[in-house]
Amino acid sequence: MEERFFTVKEATLNNNCPECYNNTGLHLTFKQKFIETKLYKSITNETSQEIECKVCNTIIYPARWTDDIDRVYNYHQRAFIPKKASTKLKQLAWLIIGISIVVAAGIITALVLWQ
Ligand SMILES: [Zn+2]
Repeated sequence: MEERFFTVKEATLNNNCPECYNNTGLHLTFKQKFIETKLYKSITNETSQEIECKVCNTIIYPARWTDDIDRVYNYHQRAFIPKKASTKLKQLAWLIIGISIVVAAGIITALVLWQ
């Protein structure tokens, strides 16, 4: 099973970076978890967000956020609409379902004929 986060929304923040004090580098990214297995692909309800400074290439963890960053983050968080969770079956899953139905139908037919 493969799990990864894909980017749903990105925003540039005008706040000063807590590390390098540059005010052009902060990027806020909203991500959502995606699961892929042999049988299905699924978008989950699980989201994560990250603030990264593109100037000093540092991930700014919430512990380092200033009040200003907190405020801007809350604003974006409210406006953020995650993608609807969904699951799509892959061909292999449909094949297994198809075979199961055929086998089940075969067993039922056999049982009926047996009597
Ligand atoms: Zn920085």
